[in-house]
Amino acid sequence: LKILIKNIRGLAGVVDAADNRKMLRGNELSEYHIIQDAWLAIEDGKIADFGTMANWPGISDWRDLEVIDAEGRFVFPAWCDSHTHLVWAGSREVEFEDRLRGLSYEEIAKRGGGILNSVEKLRSADAAQLIEASLERAYEIIASGTGAVEIKSGYGLDLDSELKMLRVAGEIGQQTPLTIKRTFLGAHALPPEYKNDKQGYIKLLVEQMIPRIAGEGLAEYIDAFCERNYFDEKDLSVILEAGVRYGLKPKIHVNQFSVSGGVSVALNYDAVSVDHLEILGEGEAEAIAATDTIATALPLCSLFLGIPYTPARALLNAGAALAIATDFNPGSAPSGNMNLAVSLACIQMKMLPAEAFNAAARNGAAAMELHDTHGSIRIGNQANAFITKPMPSAAFLPYYFGINPVERLILNGQII
Ligand SMILES: [Zn+2]
Repeated sequence: LKILIKNIRGLAGVVDAADNRKMLRGNELSEYHIIQDAWLAIEDGKIADFGTMANWPGISDWRDLEVIDAEGRFVFPAWCDSHTHLVWAGSREVEFEDRLRGLSYEEIAKRGGGILNSVEKLRSADAAQLIEASLERAYEIIASGTGAVEIKSGYGLDLDSELKMLRVAGEIGQQTPLTIKRTFLGAHALPPEYKNDKQGYIKLLVEQMIPRIAGEGLAEYIDAFCERNYFDEKDLSVILEAGVRYGLKPKIHVNQFSVSGGVSVALNYDAVSVDHLEILGEGEAEAIAATDTIATALPLCSLFLGIPYTPARALLNAGAALAIATDFNPGSAPSGNMNLAVSLACIQMKMLPAEAFNAAARNGAAAMELHDTHGSIRIGNQANAFITKPMPSAAFLPYYFGINPVERLILNGQII
Protein backbone atom coordinates (compact mmCIF):
# COMPACT_ATOMS: atom_id res chain seq x y z
CA LEU A 1 0.00 0.00 0.00
CA LYS A 2 1.10 3.51 -0.85
CA ILE A 3 -0.35 6.61 0.74
CA LEU A 4 -0.13 10.15 -0.52
CA ILE A 5 -1.24 12.94 1.80
CA LYS A 6 -1.58 16.19 -0.13
CA ASN A 7 -2.59 19.80 0.55
CA ILE A 8 -1.25 19.56 4.13
CA ARG A 9 -1.43 22.99 5.78
CA GLY A 10 1.69 22.18 7.80
CA LEU A 11 3.89 19.06 7.74
CA ALA A 12 5.42 19.23 11.22
CA GLY A 13 8.52 17.66 12.77
CA VAL A 14 10.42 17.39 9.50
CA VAL A 15 14.03 16.31 9.90
CA ASP A 16 16.70 16.29 7.22
CA ALA A 17 17.97 12.81 6.32
CA ALA A 18 21.51 14.00 7.12
CA ASP A 19 20.53 15.01 10.67
CA ASN A 20 21.46 11.94 12.68
CA ARG A 21 21.61 13.50 16.13
CA LYS A 22 20.27 10.93 18.57
CA MET A 23 18.44 13.54 20.62
CA LEU A 24 18.06 17.30 20.94
CA ARG A 25 19.55 19.13 23.91
CA GLY A 26 18.93 22.55 25.46
CA ASN A 27 18.39 25.22 22.77
CA GLU A 28 18.20 22.56 20.07
CA LEU A 29 14.70 21.65 21.23
CA SER A 30 13.41 24.87 19.67
CA GLU A 31 14.53 23.64 16.22
CA TYR A 32 11.25 22.40 14.80
CA HIS A 33 10.68 22.43 11.08
CA ILE A 34 7.25 22.74 9.52
CA ILE A 35 6.72 22.71 5.75
CA GLN A 36 3.69 24.82 4.82
CA ASP A 37 1.36 23.58 2.06
CA ALA A 38 3.02 20.20 1.82
CA TRP A 39 2.67 16.63 0.58
CA LEU A 40 3.89 13.40 2.16
CA ALA A 41 4.38 10.06 0.41
CA ILE A 42 4.41 6.73 2.28
CA GLU A 43 5.45 3.43 0.78
CA ASP A 44 6.20 -0.03 2.22
CA GLY A 45 5.54 1.23 5.74
CA LYS A 46 8.17 3.97 5.46
CA ILE A 47 8.23 7.68 4.79
CA ALA A 48 9.23 7.78 1.12
CA ASP A 49 9.31 11.49 0.31
CA PHE A 50 7.79 14.89 1.05
CA GLY A 51 7.90 18.48 -0.16
CA THR A 52 5.83 21.55 -0.93
CA MET A 53 2.75 21.40 -3.15
CA ALA A 54 4.44 23.95 -5.43
CA ASN A 55 7.07 21.31 -6.19
CA TRP A 56 4.77 18.31 -6.17
CA PRO A 57 5.75 15.86 -8.91
CA GLY A 58 2.15 14.62 -9.33
CA ILE A 59 0.99 11.01 -9.41
CA SER A 60 2.49 8.76 -12.06
CA ASP A 61 1.35 5.42 -10.66
CA TRP A 62 -2.13 5.09 -9.13
CA ARG A 63 -1.89 1.35 -8.42
CA ASP A 64 -2.53 0.55 -4.73
CA LEU A 65 -2.40 4.25 -3.97
CA GLU A 66 -4.60 5.85 -1.31
CA VAL A 67 -4.79 9.62 -1.64
CA ILE A 68 -5.75 11.72 1.39
CA ASP A 69 -6.57 15.38 1.02
CA ALA A 70 -5.47 17.07 4.27
CA GLU A 71 -6.59 20.58 3.42
CA GLY A 72 -6.51 22.86 6.47
CA ARG A 73 -4.89 20.14 8.57
CA PHE A 74 -1.48 19.47 10.06
CA VAL A 75 0.48 16.23 9.95
CA PHE A 76 2.67 15.43 12.96
CA PRO A 77 4.97 12.49 13.65
CA ALA A 78 3.11 10.11 16.02
CA TRP A 79 3.90 10.67 19.70
CA CYS A 80 6.53 8.50 21.38
CA ASP A 81 5.45 7.88 24.99
CA SER A 82 8.63 6.70 26.70
CA HIS A 83 7.27 6.06 30.23
CA THR A 84 4.07 4.13 31.00
CA HIS A 85 2.71 1.42 33.27
CA LEU A 86 -0.03 0.57 30.78
CA VAL A 87 -0.55 -3.05 31.89
CA TRP A 88 -2.59 -3.16 35.08
CA ALA A 89 -5.69 -4.77 36.56
CA GLY A 90 -8.67 -2.98 38.09
CA SER A 91 -8.69 0.73 38.92
CA ARG A 92 -8.11 2.97 41.93
CA GLU A 93 -10.82 5.64 41.91
CA VAL A 94 -11.72 4.69 45.50
CA GLU A 95 -8.29 5.99 46.60
CA PHE A 96 -8.83 9.00 44.39
CA GLU A 97 -11.97 9.84 46.37
CA ASP A 98 -10.15 9.17 49.65
CA ARG A 99 -7.48 11.64 48.61
CA LEU A 100 -10.12 14.24 47.68
CA ARG A 101 -11.58 13.79 51.15
CA GLY A 102 -8.19 14.73 52.56
CA LEU A 103 -6.68 11.38 53.50
CA SER A 104 -2.89 11.25 53.43
CA TYR A 105 -0.93 8.69 51.43
CA GLU A 106 -0.04 6.91 54.61
CA GLU A 107 -3.71 6.57 55.55
CA ILE A 108 -4.60 5.44 52.03
CA ALA A 109 -1.79 2.88 52.10
CA LYS A 110 -3.04 1.61 55.49
CA ARG A 111 -6.43 1.02 53.90
CA GLY A 112 -4.71 -1.19 51.33
CA GLY A 113 -4.20 1.56 48.74
CA GLY A 114 -1.20 2.60 46.68
CA ILE A 115 1.02 0.40 44.50
CA LEU A 116 0.24 -2.65 46.65
CA ASN A 117 -3.44 -2.29 45.81
CA SER A 118 -2.53 -2.73 42.13
CA VAL A 119 -0.21 -5.62 43.06
CA GLU A 120 -3.05 -7.52 44.72
CA LYS A 121 -5.34 -6.97 41.72
CA LEU A 122 -2.66 -7.90 39.20
CA ARG A 123 -1.64 -11.10 40.95
CA SER A 124 -5.22 -12.38 40.94
CA ALA A 125 -6.01 -11.37 37.33
CA ASP A 126 -5.53 -14.03 34.67
CA ALA A 127 -3.55 -13.21 31.55
CA ALA A 128 -6.65 -13.06 29.31
CA GLN A 129 -8.36 -10.46 31.53
CA LEU A 130 -5.15 -8.50 31.71
CA ILE A 131 -4.68 -8.52 27.94
CA GLU A 132 -8.27 -7.39 27.38
CA ALA A 133 -8.01 -4.45 29.80
CA SER A 134 -4.57 -3.43 28.53
CA LEU A 135 -5.57 -3.63 24.85
CA GLU A 136 -8.41 -1.23 25.53
CA ARG A 137 -5.91 1.29 26.92
CA ALA A 138 -3.53 0.65 24.04
CA TYR A 139 -6.28 1.55 21.53
CA GLU A 140 -7.08 4.66 23.55
CA ILE A 141 -3.53 5.95 23.27
CA ILE A 142 -3.42 5.08 19.57
CA ALA A 143 -6.58 7.15 19.08
CA SER A 144 -4.84 10.09 20.71
CA GLY A 145 -1.84 9.93 18.39
CA THR A 146 0.70 7.67 20.11
CA GLY A 147 2.67 5.31 17.88
CA ALA A 148 5.40 3.99 20.18
CA VAL A 149 5.19 3.28 23.89
CA GLU A 150 7.37 1.99 26.69
CA ILE A 151 5.58 -0.36 29.11
CA LYS A 152 6.88 -1.23 32.57
CA SER A 153 6.19 -4.20 34.79
CA GLY A 154 6.12 -3.63 38.56
CA TYR A 155 2.65 -4.59 39.78
CA GLY A 156 3.54 -8.26 40.07
CA LEU A 157 6.55 -8.14 42.43
CA ASP A 158 7.01 -11.90 42.30
CA LEU A 159 8.59 -13.84 39.47
CA ASP A 160 5.45 -15.36 37.94
CA SER A 161 3.41 -12.17 38.12
CA GLU A 162 6.22 -10.03 36.66
CA LEU A 163 6.62 -12.56 33.83
CA LYS A 164 2.85 -12.40 33.25
CA MET A 165 2.94 -8.58 33.01
CA LEU A 166 5.87 -8.50 30.59
CA ARG A 167 4.28 -11.16 28.38
CA VAL A 168 1.04 -9.18 28.30
CA ALA A 169 3.05 -6.10 27.32
CA GLY A 170 4.56 -8.19 24.52
CA GLU A 171 1.02 -9.13 23.38
CA ILE A 172 0.20 -5.42 23.05
CA GLY A 173 3.09 -5.16 20.61
CA GLN A 174 1.80 -8.22 18.71
CA GLN A 175 -1.89 -7.37 18.62
CA THR A 176 -1.75 -3.62 17.95
CA PRO A 177 0.28 -1.47 15.52
CA LEU A 178 2.12 0.13 18.46
CA THR A 179 5.89 -0.17 18.61
CA ILE A 180 6.61 -1.24 22.20
CA LYS A 181 9.62 -1.36 24.49
CA ARG A 182 9.53 -3.24 27.78
CA THR A 183 11.08 -2.36 31.12
CA PHE A 184 11.44 -4.60 34.16
CA LEU A 185 10.39 -2.62 37.25
CA GLY A 186 10.61 -5.31 39.90
CA ALA A 187 11.94 -2.67 42.31
CA HIS A 188 8.68 -0.68 42.25
CA ALA A 189 7.78 -1.39 45.90
CA LEU A 190 8.36 -4.11 48.49
CA PRO A 191 5.80 -6.91 48.05
CA PRO A 192 3.76 -7.72 51.20
CA GLU A 193 5.65 -11.00 51.77
CA TYR A 194 8.94 -9.06 51.98
CA LYS A 195 7.50 -6.12 53.94
CA ASN A 196 10.21 -6.42 56.60
CA ASP A 197 12.95 -7.91 54.45
CA LYS A 198 14.09 -5.46 51.78
CA GLN A 199 17.47 -7.18 51.39
CA GLY A 200 15.71 -10.50 50.86
CA TYR A 201 13.62 -9.00 48.09
CA ILE A 202 16.64 -7.37 46.43
CA LYS A 203 18.36 -10.77 46.53
CA LEU A 204 15.33 -12.28 44.77
CA LEU A 205 15.46 -9.51 42.14
CA VAL A 206 19.18 -9.89 41.54
CA GLU A 207 19.55 -13.67 41.72
CA GLN A 208 16.32 -14.88 40.16
CA MET A 209 14.11 -12.30 38.49
CA ILE A 210 16.69 -10.29 36.51
CA PRO A 211 18.49 -13.37 35.07
CA ARG A 212 15.20 -15.04 34.10
CA ILE A 213 13.61 -11.95 32.52
CA ALA A 214 16.76 -10.97 30.64
CA GLY A 215 17.30 -14.61 29.64
CA GLU A 216 13.84 -14.84 28.11
CA GLY A 217 14.26 -11.49 26.36
CA LEU A 218 11.17 -10.10 28.07
CA ALA A 219 12.62 -6.64 28.72
CA GLU A 220 15.33 -4.35 27.37
CA TYR A 221 15.41 -1.95 30.28
CA ILE A 222 15.57 -2.05 34.05
CA ASP A 223 13.88 0.45 36.31
CA ALA A 224 13.65 1.08 40.06
CA PHE A 225 11.60 3.48 42.17
CA CYS A 226 14.41 5.35 43.88
CA GLU A 227 12.59 7.25 46.62
CA ARG A 228 12.35 7.70 50.37
CA ASN A 229 10.66 4.61 51.91
CA TYR A 230 11.15 2.62 48.69
CA PHE A 231 14.64 1.92 47.28
CA ASP A 232 17.60 4.14 48.17
CA GLU A 233 20.70 4.86 46.11
CA LYS A 234 22.60 1.91 47.61
CA ASP A 235 19.79 -0.46 46.63
CA LEU A 236 19.74 1.17 43.21
CA SER A 237 23.46 0.44 42.68
CA VAL A 238 22.98 -3.22 43.54
CA ILE A 239 19.96 -3.57 41.26
CA LEU A 240 21.54 -1.71 38.33
CA GLU A 241 24.81 -3.63 38.67
CA ALA A 242 22.86 -6.86 38.20
CA GLY A 243 20.65 -5.44 35.45
CA VAL A 244 23.55 -4.12 33.42
CA ARG A 245 25.40 -7.43 33.83
CA TYR A 246 22.43 -9.12 32.11
CA GLY A 247 22.24 -6.51 29.35
CA LEU A 248 19.32 -4.47 30.71
CA LYS A 249 19.81 -0.71 30.36
CA PRO A 250 18.63 1.60 33.15
CA LYS A 251 15.61 3.91 32.94
CA ILE A 252 15.03 5.15 36.47
CA HIS A 253 12.19 6.67 38.57
CA VAL A 254 14.01 9.30 40.59
CA ASN A 255 13.46 12.61 42.47
CA GLN A 256 9.65 12.46 42.45
CA PHE A 257 9.15 13.53 46.05
CA SER A 258 12.71 14.00 47.33
CA VAL A 259 16.32 14.34 46.17
CA SER A 260 17.99 11.02 46.84
CA GLY A 261 21.36 10.73 45.13
CA GLY A 262 19.75 8.34 42.67
CA VAL A 263 20.44 10.66 39.74
CA SER A 264 24.21 10.29 40.06
CA VAL A 265 23.93 6.50 40.48
CA ALA A 266 21.76 6.32 37.32
CA LEU A 267 24.24 8.49 35.41
CA ASN A 268 27.12 6.28 36.55
CA TYR A 269 25.34 3.32 34.97
CA ASP A 270 24.75 5.24 31.69
CA ALA A 271 21.00 5.32 32.17
CA VAL A 272 19.02 5.83 28.97
CA SER A 273 16.74 8.14 30.95
CA VAL A 274 16.11 9.56 34.41
CA ASP A 275 12.39 10.08 34.86
CA HIS A 276 10.22 12.33 37.09
CA LEU A 277 12.74 14.90 38.44
CA GLU A 278 9.96 17.02 39.95
CA ILE A 279 12.67 18.02 42.42
CA LEU A 280 16.18 18.78 41.17
CA GLY A 281 19.15 18.76 43.48
CA GLU A 282 22.06 21.22 43.31
CA GLY A 283 24.08 20.63 40.13
CA GLU A 284 21.89 17.76 38.91
CA ALA A 285 20.68 19.53 35.75
CA GLU A 286 24.31 20.15 34.75
CA ALA A 287 25.31 16.59 35.62
CA ILE A 288 22.53 15.18 33.40
CA ALA A 289 23.43 17.61 30.60
CA ALA A 290 27.02 16.33 30.60
CA THR A 291 25.81 12.82 29.63
CA ASP A 292 23.64 11.14 26.97
CA THR A 293 20.98 10.42 29.60
CA ILE A 294 17.58 11.92 28.79
CA ALA A 295 15.61 13.75 31.49
CA THR A 296 11.97 12.68 31.21
CA ALA A 297 9.21 14.88 32.65
CA LEU A 298 5.78 13.44 33.46
CA PRO A 299 3.37 16.40 33.58
CA LEU A 300 0.16 14.33 33.84
CA CYS A 301 1.44 12.89 37.13
CA SER A 302 2.16 16.40 38.44
CA LEU A 303 -1.35 17.47 37.44
CA PHE A 304 -3.08 14.47 38.99
CA LEU A 305 -1.16 14.49 42.29
CA GLY A 306 -0.83 18.26 42.58
CA ILE A 307 2.94 18.01 42.97
CA PRO A 308 5.52 20.34 41.35
CA TYR A 309 6.19 20.11 37.62
CA THR A 310 9.66 19.10 36.46
CA PRO A 311 11.71 22.32 36.06
CA ALA A 312 12.04 22.10 32.30
CA ARG A 313 13.67 25.49 31.85
CA ALA A 314 16.44 24.70 34.34
CA LEU A 315 17.16 21.44 32.51
CA LEU A 316 17.08 23.09 29.06
CA ASN A 317 19.20 26.03 30.20
CA ALA A 318 21.79 23.55 31.45
CA GLY A 319 21.76 21.93 27.99
CA ALA A 320 20.05 18.66 28.94
CA ALA A 321 18.00 16.50 26.57
CA LEU A 322 14.39 16.59 27.77
CA ALA A 323 11.54 14.23 26.89
CA ILE A 324 7.94 14.27 28.06
CA ALA A 325 5.84 11.18 28.64
CA THR A 326 2.51 10.31 30.30
CA ASP A 327 3.42 7.91 33.14
CA PHE A 328 0.03 6.27 32.30
CA ASN A 329 -0.76 4.26 35.47
CA PRO A 330 -3.73 3.58 37.79
CA GLY A 331 -2.46 5.47 40.83
CA SER A 332 -0.76 8.73 39.89
CA ALA A 333 -1.59 9.35 36.20
CA PRO A 334 -4.66 7.51 34.90
CA SER A 335 -4.36 9.10 31.46
CA GLY A 336 -2.24 8.17 28.46
CA ASN A 337 -3.06 11.34 26.56
CA MET A 338 0.15 12.75 25.06
CA ASN A 339 -1.70 15.78 23.64
CA LEU A 340 -2.61 16.81 27.16
CA ALA A 341 0.99 16.16 28.29
CA VAL A 342 2.17 18.50 25.50
CA SER A 343 -0.35 21.18 26.57
CA LEU A 344 0.76 20.92 30.20
CA ALA A 345 4.42 21.08 29.19
CA CYS A 346 3.61 24.47 27.65
CA ILE A 347 1.12 25.77 30.22
CA GLN A 348 2.85 24.59 33.40
CA MET A 349 6.48 23.96 32.42
CA LYS A 350 6.74 27.06 30.17
CA MET A 351 8.03 25.07 27.24
CA LEU A 352 7.36 26.57 23.81
CA PRO A 353 5.17 24.45 21.53
CA ALA A 354 8.18 23.59 19.35
CA GLU A 355 10.13 22.38 22.41
CA ALA A 356 7.18 20.33 23.67
CA PHE A 357 6.67 18.70 20.24
CA ASN A 358 10.33 17.67 20.12
CA ALA A 359 10.20 16.41 23.71
CA ALA A 360 7.08 14.31 23.01
CA ALA A 361 8.23 12.79 19.74
CA ARG A 362 11.89 13.02 18.81
CA ASN A 363 13.37 12.88 22.33
CA GLY A 364 10.67 10.42 23.43
CA ALA A 365 11.85 8.14 20.62
CA ALA A 366 15.45 8.56 21.82
CA ALA A 367 14.37 7.66 25.38
CA MET A 368 13.26 4.30 23.91
CA GLU A 369 16.30 4.09 21.57
CA LEU A 370 13.96 4.39 18.58
CA HIS A 371 15.55 7.61 17.30
CA ASP A 372 16.65 6.05 13.99
CA THR A 373 13.10 5.13 13.00
CA HIS A 374 10.56 7.07 15.06
CA GLY A 375 9.69 10.53 16.33
CA SER A 376 10.17 12.63 13.20
CA ILE A 377 9.14 13.02 9.57
CA ARG A 378 12.36 11.89 7.91
CA ILE A 379 12.84 9.88 4.71
CA GLY A 380 13.25 6.21 5.63
CA ASN A 381 11.61 6.53 9.05
CA GLN A 382 8.76 4.20 9.96
CA ALA A 383 5.56 5.82 8.63
CA ASN A 384 3.99 6.81 11.96
CA ALA A 385 2.09 10.08 11.71
CA PHE A 386 -1.26 11.63 12.55
CA ILE A 387 -3.44 14.05 10.67
CA THR A 388 -5.07 16.66 12.88
CA LYS A 389 -8.50 18.17 12.72
CA PRO A 390 -8.42 21.47 10.78
CA MET A 391 -6.25 23.97 12.70
CA PRO A 392 -4.71 27.34 11.86
CA SER A 393 -1.19 26.66 13.19
CA ALA A 394 0.89 24.02 14.97
CA ALA A 395 0.76 25.98 18.23
CA PHE A 396 -3.03 25.60 18.13
CA LEU A 397 -2.55 21.95 19.21
CA PRO A 398 -1.30 22.64 22.78
CA TYR A 399 -3.29 25.91 22.99
CA TYR A 400 -6.71 24.38 22.27
CA PHE A 401 -6.24 21.92 25.09
CA GLY A 402 -8.22 19.01 26.44
CA ILE A 403 -9.73 17.78 23.17
CA ASN A 404 -8.37 15.07 20.91
CA PRO A 405 -6.78 16.88 17.95
CA VAL A 406 -6.18 13.63 16.04
CA GLU A 407 -8.48 12.96 13.08
CA ARG A 408 -6.64 10.10 11.36
CA LEU A 409 -3.58 8.09 12.24
CA ILE A 410 -1.11 6.14 10.14
CA LEU A 411 1.08 3.54 11.85
CA ASN A 412 3.62 1.37 10.03
CA GLY A 413 2.27 2.78 6.77
CA GLN A 414 -1.29 1.59 7.47
CA ILE A 415 -4.28 3.86 8.01
CA ILE A 416 -5.70 2.99 11.44
ZN1 LIG B 1 6.19 5.79 36.43
